[in-house]
Amino acid sequence: MREYLFFILACLFSFQVKAQYQTVPCATTDYISWLETQQPGITSDINEAFFNAKRNSLIKYKNKKDTIYTIQVVFHVLYNNSSQNIDDQYIESQLDVLNACFRRTNADTVNTRAVFLPVAADAGIEFKLAEEDPEGNPTTGIIRKQTALQTFGTIPINLAAVDRVKLSPYGSPAWDTEQYLNIWICDLSSNGFDALLGYAYPPTNADNWNTNSFTTQNKQGVVVHYKVVGENNPFSLSTAEKTTVHEVGHYLGLRHVWGDGSRNQGCNVDDFMEDTPNSRAASNGCNKSQNTCIDNPGDLPDMLENYMDYSDGNCQNMFTAQQVDQMRANLKLFRSGIASVRYPEPLPEPVVFAEYGLHPNPVIEDLAVHLTDVDENASYTLEIFNILGQKVRNVMLQAQSLQHVSNLSDLHGYYVCSLQKNQEVLMTQKVIFNP
Ligand SMILES: [Zn+2]
Repeated sequence: MREYLFFILACLFSFQVKAQYQTVPCATTDYISWLETQQPGITSDINEAFFNAKRNSLIKYKNKKDTIYTIQVVFHVLYNNSSQNIDDQYIESQLDVLNACFRRTNADTVNTRAVFLPVAADAGIEFKLAEEDPEGNPTTGIIRKQTALQTFGTIPINLAAVDRVKLSPYGSPAWDTEQYLNIWICDLSSNGFDALLGYAYPPTNADNWNTNSFTTQNKQGVVVHYKVVGENNPFSLSTAEKTTVHEVGHYLGLRHVWGDGSRNQGCNVDDFMEDTPNSRAASNGCNKSQNTCIDNPGDLPDMLENYMDYSDGNCQNMFTAQQVDQMRANLKLFRSGIASVRYPEPLPEPVVFAEYGLHPNPVIEDLAVHLTDVDENASYTLEIFNILGQKVRNVMLQAQSLQHVSNLSDLHGYYVCSLQKNQEVLMTQKVIFNP
């Protein structure tokens, strides 16, 4: 037992020295590194796919910004003890945080620096708890399962081990990942140390990712540490509820804002977004004077406000327009089954047209007369002539900007209308009646 303890301590110690430790906020790119060891070359495939997805996002879907996507979510809570079995209220709170951040309605958006406001964007993506399970039965969208594992966390991080959260016997199998966003909540600590806060797998789809081995369907989704779920979680690490926002960003295909390069690659590694300034490495804290790379042209500070950085949660308050395009394109291309689509409420028909004159043309029954610069003391008349020049109507109009002239159903064909003010012709217009 003593040896075992020593071994664990040694591991912790070497890990701390090596990584200058701390909690790893997110292990999504660790997974890509691991894949590279399994399948050399996969990183460049993934890079190429990112490029394609970005191109798709810019070309195909740019004109559909008004579509709102609503993603149905199922939470799997895996617990070994009652602390880990977090209350519904934190899950609901987390859903509120997701909705606010993805619609840019969160109060802390006022903290976005002015220099980034032109690119800060509403993603038009919303989240709701699933109401039907895959068999069509009613559900709360929250599954709870007791597990024999005290924790799923490991040091060093081993995602294959953590992924047991998605499989029997220790975990809770995914609901159809093409229909639901699965979010697993579990303990990701190791020996009492909060080793990892979360991770997610970016979209996999053979046609678009140039590989069908990125990850298997039944592991698609997001995993988060139970201590970071919802606002004011009793175990919460500071403002950690933004962790899930970050992970859903990965799940919809976003990269870390610094491009996931190592420190020596620094500014040469990009996140493929043109509206996020280059930065050398992950940020921490909230030092807004930080500017690790010179952007050319137009140098900007590091975008610590971005959800895809490692800055403090209370520092993060935005996605950029291109990140939004990327996520929306990926949702459409790779994950369309998880979201329902709605369009904003249609605007009511405009009552007053700015355009001066007679509408519509041709006229069916009623004729709308639009006046501008209406003089209340003037008399307005409308005269209608047939093609022989005979006056067939002489209508006294009201001195108002919009009115309808009715009882015209006996007129058929081509007429000339003369709009007059104090018997002076304002305009004449050829109008077809009741063709
Ligand atoms: Zn991440």
